[in-house]
Amino acid sequence: MIMSLDRLSVNQATTETATTRELVAACRSQGIPAIAPWRHQYVGESAELTRELLDSHGVVASSLCRGGFFTNRPAADSFDDNRHAIDEAAALGAPTLVLVCGPVTDTGLVEAEHQILEGIASIVDHAAQAGVALAIEPFHPMFAAERSAVVTLAQATRLVRQLGATNVGLAVDTYHVWWDPNLESSLADAADYVLGIHVADWLVPTTDLLAGRGLPGDGIIDLSAILTTLVKNGYDGWVEVEVLNREVWARPTDAVIADVRERMRLLLGDS
Ligand code: ZN
Repeated sequence: MIMSLDRLSVNQATTETATTRELVAACRSQGIPAIAPWRHQYVGESAELTRELLDSHGVVASSLCRGGFFTNRPAADSFDDNRHAIDEAAALGAPTLVLVCGPVTDTGLVEAEHQILEGIASIVDHAAQAGVALAIEPFHPMFAAERSAVVTLAQATRLVRQLGATNVGLAVDTYHVWWDPNLESSLADAADYVLGIHVADWLVPTTDLLAGRGLPGDGIIDLSAILTTLVKNGYDGWVEVEVLNREVWARPTDAVIADVRERMRLLLGDS
């Protein structure tokens, strides 16, 4: 067994068109102990009300998606928005806020990295006081111009080290990192900083870069190898299934969650 299903979480992006109530109810009925909420999906637009829903179902928040977007915007805006996101993570009881760091567009990579480092540095203390860790999520390079100037695990690890704060680490998303020829050594190098794992498969062909991700087992990523390496390197936190896929979104929520659980049972080797 790679990992117990006790560590399984469903990232809310997997059920984008469902309500949070539907997702939480489906997870409870499948015995899935956690979800990763997205900020635009709060019950009554409130992190506190969302926490009440989670508590009433015995489901916890594994992380909050998302903060970040430090590039190409006034520093004050990203500071305010990220402080709110940190406070919401604390209200939800989520240990980690996932950071999508912002694109390269207009700035060039060097300036983008500079803005990202400054942006994270400006919120580190607030996050520490709130008891929230910040996870830099490296994205697939195809998103460099629209979502994240951080495109490899090695780059994310370097930024984490440059920041040098105990509450800053990174999130490993299989969809974003699987192609990296240095993945094994990068995973080893990042081992002390992994705060979260996102699981999605790479479909062939991939026709929708953002919302054409595969459920585990439907694509070509050796998910078992990546998860085994992460666990061998010491990771024992949540494993979130995060599948942005329009066909999955069109299916009934209960069926998707049951499918996710069965695929992860097979992948993790939990009986
Ligand atoms: Zn992710």
